[in-house]
Amino acid sequence: MTISDPRTFQVKSFGCQMNVYDGERMAETLEAEGMTAAAEGAEADLVVLNTCHIREKAAEKVYSDIGRLMKRGHAPMIAVAGCVAQAEGAEISRRAPGVGIVVGPQAYHNLPELVRKAARGEAALDTGMPLLSKFGALPARRRQAPSAFLTVQEGCDKFCTYCVVPYTRGAEISRPFAAILDEAEALIDAGAKEITLLGQNVNAWRDGEGRGLDALIRALDALPGLARIRYTTSHPNDMTDGLIRAHADVEKLMPYLHLPVQSGSDRVLRAMNRSHSGDSYLRILDRVRAARPDIAISGDFIVGFPGETDAEFEETLKIVETVNYAQAFSFKYSPRPGTPAAEMEDQIPADVMDERLQRLQALLNIQQLAFNQAKVGLRTELLLERPGRKPGQKIGKTPWLQSVHLETVVAIGDIVEVELLSAGPNSLAGTESLTEAA
Ligand code: SAM
Ligand code: SF4
Repeated sequence: MTISDPRTFQVKSFGCQMNVYDGERMAETLEAEGMTAAAEGAEADLVVLNTCHIREKAAEKVYSDIGRLMKRGHAPMIAVAGCVAQAEGAEISRRAPGVGIVVGPQAYHNLPELVRKAARGEAALDTGMPLLSKFGALPARRRQAPSAFLTVQEGCDKFCTYCVVPYTRGAEISRPFAAILDEAEALIDAGAKEITLLGQNVNAWRDGEGRGLDALIRALDALPGLARIRYTTSHPNDMTDGLIRAHADVEKLMPYLHLPVQSGSDRVLRAMNRSHSGDSYLRILDRVRAARPDIAISGDFIVGFPGETDAEFEETLKIVETVNYAQAFSFKYSPRPGTPAAEMEDQIPADVMDERLQRLQALLNIQQLAFNQAKVGLRTELLLERPGRKPGQKIGKTPWLQSVHLETVVAIGDIVEVELLSAGPNSLAGTESLTEAA
């Protein structure tokens, strides 16, 4: 039997940070309707699976999750949200009849209405992409966290040949300047010390008055109470002079840039429709590093794009060696339905992709460890974000987005000065310095 009058809910978000943000806003929307978040470990009446469609593995995961939920004594009401909902629509409820609600990423402000419909036993599907953005229809931000996400730009017009985002998230839109500042102020009032501006191509953010992301960053810089600003994910073609300059002179803008290159081969980049070359990417990084010499560079890579030769893959290793990444995300190419690359000849065999991914990740891991180790002995500021596993331990982030474990009585949400003592590939350990930061 499925629950028909849900009072408690759980939102499970998969995939990118924009999904995490959407998941938080879905929770706030449901709370505004009088529902409450289920306690940790408790079975919720309504489970929202906020899905990711970027690679096949991520997209298929939703069906195993639904299967697991249906095995409960009282199966919850299940909503499939996110990019799988957008891409597969009504097909989801045909394949998994236990799913009561299907809601796309541009329509989740209608979630309460869809819950009521599903409770009445009616079909509840909304994958519309309305002209007026959902943001105006969402309740004000209430989330309390030291580090908060704020989506400023959605969708994508770049149409990389491997990518589903332009189809699942729709055309590129920028939220208005004033609405973003209002949301930032609400987040700061609720305790945020750090705001990460989000977008599929966040640096493509523009407003009708010709302002770009740098203007937004400078406006956030002026907000009292905010200590740190970040933004992700950027496209190389939208790295403007103004944005690069902001890295030189906005103190609150953290020294970290996620700038995906995907491949080091110009032929592969053209086949991907990336509209930048390996060289133009490197020249951008030169300028960014001239503006902010200590900046940590992070990137995304795809190995095994159709037709990628051994020599072309070697060019990816070469660009990684040239850049020297602080962090990176690397993936095997996954053919996505409806994208041009899925129809290309010369799909690369799985074993070749596996081997290439292992070689690439081995190199990236060495660079990440070296980046972390180079910070040992340094004094820096940490924003304390959450408790650690051991009693008294807390986990904070450095300006370069490294996680640091330390024992301290300083409260979560505060900034503390630390000395970094040791480094592993994924985190560092530190000790509190005697002088505490403001
Ligand atoms: N807009 C960002 C950009 O262009 O760099 C990234 C957005 S996408 C959500 C995140 C990453 O997923 C991409 O940078 C790419 O490396 C990876 N990705 C996207 N489509 C993929 C596919 N079909 N197979 C494997 N990886 C993919
Ligand atoms: Fe996808 Fe390319 Fe757009 Fe990034 S720029 S979201 S990879 S289409």
